[in-house]
Amino acid sequence: MSGNFEGGCACGQVRYRLTSKPMFVHCCHCLDCQRQTGSAFVINGIIERERVVLLAGEPVAVALPTDSGRPHDVWRCPQCQTALWSDYGRRKVLVFLRVATLDEPHAIVPDVHIYTRSKVPWVRLPADVPAFAEYYDMRELWPAPSLERRQALRGSA
Ligand SMILES: [Zn+2]
Ligand SMILES: [Zn+2]
Repeated sequence: MSGNFEGGCACGQVRYRLTSKPMFVHCCHCLDCQRQTGSAFVINGIIERERVVLLAGEPVAVALPTDSGRPHDVWRCPQCQTALWSDYGRRKVLVFLRVATLDEPHAIVPDVHIYTRSKVPWVRLPADVPAFAEYYDMRELWPAPSLERRQALRGSA
């Protein structure tokens, strides 16, 4: 990517900067993501919360119901309600950043496609990116530096 790691909501009240690339990028085709966005899939960049630096505004958490019962907070702009990132399990140290809120959203491409069992049939997946009917084993797919970053968070989570 070109180095522009900034992004924000639709109205501009919330602006943020990533201090690094995400650890890993999911393209999620699950029905929850489809319903919550009214779209075909969601692209989530998994990144340490502390690497998302707020430049303006203060997102607010909206709790969503989940099948698993684990909390899922979506952090949104209080003004325009754009979803900026999700905190699955209320871990606080780790967020799933909505990649499409970056100013250059296409610079980050998915590392994996997940929950393809509910993928809309007209979306064709690239042959060179791993895809899974449900989830996958992190240890097999994530690059070592990303696994180390993830491991470093476990101490603080
Ligand atoms: Zn906004
Ligand atoms: Zn999903």
